[in-house]
Amino acid sequence: MTVNANSLDAYWMPFTGNRQFKAHPRMIVGADGMYFKTSDGRDLLDGIAGLWCCSAGHNRPRIVEAIRQQVGELDYAPAFQMGHPKQFELANRLTQLIPGDLNKVFFTNSGSESVETALKMAIAYHRARGEGHRTRLIGREKGYHGVNFGGMSVGGMPANRKMFGSLVSGVDHLRHTHGIAENRFSKGLPLHGAERADDLQRLCELHDPSTIAAVIVEPLAGSAGVILPPVGYLKRLREICDQHGILLIFDEVITGFGRLGAPFAVDKFGVEPDMVTTAKALTNGVIPMGAVFVQDKIYDAFMQGPENMVEFFHGYTYSGNPMACAAALGALDTYEEEGLLTRASELSDYWQVALHSLRDLPHVIDLRNMGLIAGIELEPLPGQPTKRAFDAFLKAYEAGLLIRTTGDTIALSPPLIIEKSQIDFIFDTLTNIIKTLD
Ligand code: PMP
Repeated sequence: MTVNANSLDAYWMPFTGNRQFKAHPRMIVGADGMYFKTSDGRDLLDGIAGLWCCSAGHNRPRIVEAIRQQVGELDYAPAFQMGHPKQFELANRLTQLIPGDLNKVFFTNSGSESVETALKMAIAYHRARGEGHRTRLIGREKGYHGVNFGGMSVGGMPANRKMFGSLVSGVDHLRHTHGIAENRFSKGLPLHGAERADDLQRLCELHDPSTIAAVIVEPLAGSAGVILPPVGYLKRLREICDQHGILLIFDEVITGFGRLGAPFAVDKFGVEPDMVTTAKALTNGVIPMGAVFVQDKIYDAFMQGPENMVEFFHGYTYSGNPMACAAALGALDTYEEEGLLTRASELSDYWQVALHSLRDLPHVIDLRNMGLIAGIELEPLPGQPTKRAFDAFLKAYEAGLLIRTTGDTIALSPPLIIEKSQIDFIFDTLTNIIKTLD
């Protein structure tokens, strides 16, 4: 078949209405700092850090240079039974960033793979300790843990699940904490709803806790529309897990690397899980990579067998890929040199005031924020859910601002290098747009 190289036909785009997009394509052809460049020559302020990942903005010299050097030195090294120095250097750097006992790091290539890895590790960990009966996994409604079968099954996004049959068995869900009326327009953490963590106790009673391997939650749920944990909620989950020998996994694919104003949500909320899944900003989104942080006790449990044995039958061709490691080291250098891992806490008051200036606009039914992340929930247009927010996305694109929408919520998560004048631009633009929505 002969096709025009510029034809839009062959590429099946992910999580995109292909027919709608191909009728009105939006093409990005460049990126620098806080801005994307569109194919029609316009600058687009990046209000969502690409897809919650480009935390240091775009075209950052440290990262560009690290990749350039690496490709000429060692472009690929086999991931199994072989090592290369940058894997070890990166793992060491990362464990210094995260508190507590999370001192071991397993590399993957995406958030979805980090989640699958953590779920498999949890089950295998219990088995290694003689508790092979612990196989059940608990997620939460509205959770997003990627698109692979394990992550989709513990995830709780109905649209992501409904096309794919009965999914992984032995999975149950906590209720989400969204939509509690008293929490509307909370600034920072909402006060009400910590008792929903007791759903875990209920599931322990229902299933027998000795069948449960792990609970996975996003400490702050991003993709479902920026849902913050009620004060005390995560601590309560930790207590129930401890009581019953269940592992707690925090999915920090969005919250990791400074989004909330501290390097990890683990620091921000003062609750240490047994594992933390990450990806996205690990390399500033530049090269696909994920990492699972694991407590020493988990790694140690796998190291008990004979010396010549493989301890964990799991891994990817690109685990700890040299190019990805170089990009991650360049990203960490950038974050550390520019103070980006805590910059969101310096800007969070300004961000919060700017966000809450939208409170009295038409259709706005909730505002949620922490660090440099925000959700603006709009009342659905009767009979046409998601349309209002998606119209806002299209209008913002025309006005030079990239946002993301999920359901009827607008999500914001700009690069952490953002300036106050750019925060003003985001909220002034959105104010004007929301006023014009049907
Ligand atoms: N977990 C969370 C919390 C996420 O936000 C995402 C992606 N938005 C994923 C997992 C999946 O990551 P990826 O798209 O890199 O597979």
